[in-house]
Amino acid sequence: MIEGANFIDGSWVPAVSGQTFTRRNPADPADVIGTFPASGPDDVRIAVDALDKAAPEWAATSPERRAAILESAAMQLESRSAQLIGELVREEGKTTAEATMEVSRTPANLRFYAAEATRCAGATYPAAGETLLYTIREPVGIVGAITPWNFPLNIPSRKLGPALAVGNPVVFKPSEVTPLMGQRLVEALLAGGLPAQAIALVQGAGPAGAAVAGDERVAALTFTGSTRVGRLLHGQVGPHRRVQLEMGGKNPVVVADDADPDRAAALIVKGAFGLSGQACTGTSRVIATAALHDAVLERVVARARALRVGPGAAADVDMGALANAEQLQKFTDYVRIGTDEGATLCCGGDTVTVAGSPGGFFVRSAVFSDAEPHMRIVTDEVFGPLLAFQRAGSLDEAIDLANATEFGLSAAIVTGDLAVAQRFARTSRSGLVKINQPTTGMAMNAPFGGYKSSSTATFKEQAGASMMEFYLNEKTVYLNPVA
Ligand code: NAD
Repeated sequence: MIEGANFIDGSWVPAVSGQTFTRRNPADPADVIGTFPASGPDDVRIAVDALDKAAPEWAATSPERRAAILESAAMQLESRSAQLIGELVREEGKTTAEATMEVSRTPANLRFYAAEATRCAGATYPAAGETLLYTIREPVGIVGAITPWNFPLNIPSRKLGPALAVGNPVVFKPSEVTPLMGQRLVEALLAGGLPAQAIALVQGAGPAGAAVAGDERVAALTFTGSTRVGRLLHGQVGPHRRVQLEMGGKNPVVVADDADPDRAAALIVKGAFGLSGQACTGTSRVIATAALHDAVLERVVARARALRVGPGAAADVDMGALANAEQLQKFTDYVRIGTDEGATLCCGGDTVTVAGSPGGFFVRSAVFSDAEPHMRIVTDEVFGPLLAFQRAGSLDEAIDLANATEFGLSAAIVTGDLAVAQRFARTSRSGLVKINQPTTGMAMNAPFGGYKSSSTATFKEQAGASMMEFYLNEKTVYLNPVA
């Protein structure tokens, strides 16, 4: 069992209050992973005091050195990959294949941002007379990073990587569901040579996150999590500090009339039930006209029934445990809500007892048909393996239904018709548009972020013109040689 700690002012320490919380293996809740500090405002204040003092020194570090540190942290993660894969499966519940993917993507992210350390240039502008008119890009200041549990290495690496690359100190608050992965990432950064004063790790739940967001010295807050918490944080940060929010989704797949139903079903099942349905870009709705609705539904149900459910560490498992008892409860509640609202449950929706994994949070994927736009299984993010089929009268109506959601993270269409594909890409109110691909999965070197309630509108993550903007201030200098 691990006795986890906060990393504050260069030392591994318990919470000021001495309080802890326990994290258990969701596939076998009798298996205790460890205890971790239940931090609060005092811990955050001490952490930010230390970062504040050290910020000028870290900002003055050469870009080459910062890049080398991130490179070296990436190598640290790679050298521990077997251990990390095992721990990630045990802590979060995902399958070994899913954990392997995440553990390989995280160092790649750090390398990607390492390269940005030396690239964030300013510009010169035409000016009158002898004036030299140029911009300088400076670190924004202390960055607060609050992250979810479903990609507990990968998502933080997309925040800590760019923040540190350009010289910002970071106070990092991982999810209380995956504290060990948060600690492992910080350990790798320190082993890679990150100065101890440039990072703080504050473990805990909502109160720790609220304290990070509430500290006025945190100049920029980057958050990934639910829309509910994101909205709270947006209100808390106020207009004078910077905030980036990546939030929920209700991601549709539209099946056009020319689609191959087998291929459509394969792509839908991958997007809906990968990561046990716990992906922000996971497919939660399928929209089809009468031409293919029944054929696709039948194939999706057959594939969903065939998914092997069990502990993520086992070799023959397609779907691991849900992350915790709350996730299990939410899934079960929405299966009941869907049935009560009058949708037809075609398969799954029940819990599964797996031999050798007593009490694990295992469920069978739920597929509903006859889902209507007003139903909560169509409007709410369930964040579990629950899929709702909706019928449309035409392609136009299917696209309208796909867009009829408060979210706008990812949307897919299955079609071989280029005109239909282009029309969908043009009219989709979604930050990611997938054509003949699952709603899940994305390249690290392309912009990522949603429309509507899925993201703040200002900054994109991962790549693109605004990726590094969030972590930098820009100053315009007018320089004349003499007064
Ligand atoms: P969550 O919102 O419950 O928690 C996210 C983080 O916020 C955690 O670290 C949590 O401790 C913290 N937190 C909770 N209450 C807080 C408060 N009042 N003040 C400050 N911090 C607080 O989300 P979750 O259950 O960890 O993750 C699932 C959600 O994350 C889903 O909605 C999913 O769609 C979303 N998500 C989005 C993306 C994306 O890129 N858009 C990626 C992954 C997950």
